[in-house]
Amino acid sequence: QDTSRKIPLYPRWVRVNTIKTTLANQLLTTFAEYEEVRDLGQILSASSRSKVYFIDPNIPNLIALPPKADLGRSSAYAQGDIIFQDKASCFPAYLLDVKPVDGDVIDGCAAPGNKTTHLAAIISEKTSQTHPRSLSQNVIAFEKDKIRAVILEKMVNLASAEHIVSIKGGYDFLATNPDSPQFANVGAILLDPSCSGSGIVGRDDVIRMHLPDPQSGRSVGPKASKSRKRKRDQKKDHDSQLSPTIKLELDESIAEETPVNEDLNERLEALSTFQLRILTHAMCFPKAQKISYSTCSVHFEENENVVFRALGSTAATARGWKILKREHQIDGLMSWKKRGFWDNGKLGNDLGTSLEERQDVLNGCIRCEKGTEDGTMGFFVAAFVRDDASAQNGF
Ligand code: SAM
Repeated sequence: QDTSRKIPLYPRWVRVNTIKTTLANQLLTTFAEYEEVRDLGQILSASSRSKVYFIDPNIPNLIALPPKADLGRSSAYAQGDIIFQDKASCFPAYLLDVKPVDGDVIDGCAAPGNKTTHLAAIISEKTSQTHPRSLSQNVIAFEKDKIRAVILEKMVNLASAEHIVSIKGGYDFLATNPDSPQFANVGAILLDPSCSGSGIVGRDDVIRMHLPDPQSGRSVGPKASKSRKRKRDQKKDHDSQLSPTIKLELDESIAEETPVNEDLNERLEALSTFQLRILTHAMCFPKAQKISYSTCSVHFEENENVVFRALGSTAATARGWKILKREHQIDGLMSWKKRGFWDNGKLGNDLGTSLEERQDVLNGCIRCEKGTEDGTMGFFVAAFVRDDASAQNGF
């Protein structure tokens, strides 16, 4: 496949913050002068000034605007009515499908808070649909890095989610005692741990992310032979065009960037060991019945392989954790076609079971690929659920 022909297909994704407003309301106010288009392709080929939007069919309250559309100075953005968040980054909270009956939700790796505030919005929508929000359902957001925890707090406040989210700034999720009474009501856990960030747009793929020249339609991007420094400069240019929120996500990836001299395999080994620890730790919370695990990495080692290793762990087998199969996923994601894959060259950790079982797990894994007509970054998410009997026994 000739990837050099790929062009950047990256709209400005806007999540409407349903804690403060509604999609209908935003379409009548912030986007009053905009026209709806029925095809994402029209958004991707529109100029940044075109006033068009596309309502995403997979994630509720998410719209796409033309690439680089500048809403950074709009009052809706300043007030936290809208949040710039990649479509793929909206998958984990939506896949977790938290309901009032699930009780408290832990976000184990929370800053800058895109998924925390999305979780809070989903909780707020579901509780207001049924009965006025009772104070019994909260998001407990862990962030180990104190500086990043300050950013998380700002984002939570801007989104008006502070009555739902309790921030554990400077706390290591791995140091928590799952059996502590403070977590007795935790029914769901979202995990979005540090990763290689290889799925982030502008990362690794600068070679093939060629912007078509508006006049000639020909690629004007960097050539494959360009130096690493040049690539970094291009990434900086790219970042400078992004909203503060998206920059915050990129800041994470910069912190995690593989040093020039470090072997990628060693880096992936270290990251996946940490990711597996986080996931198996979450599996030990006695009342937890669902977990979502995500990365913005494209590497099998950080994704499917972590899922298989976790499913084979004692934490999973003793407590009845299984993959959330595709047919049980929430509507908008069940229909998502890109699924997990098995990398024969990488000695994946099989479950030692049938090929059908392996395929079921892979079908439960959701992938997003950057630089495609989907307009997302590279991303991975899978969810786990427990056998009812194991969960009810609360062990
Ligand atoms: N979920 C965030 C969002 O959507 O905005 C992005 C999370 S980022 C990929 C991972 C975060 O986890 C980083 O801020 C990192 O500092 C934090 N982190 C890493 N290890 C942690 C741990 N053991 N406990 C709590 N936070 C941790």
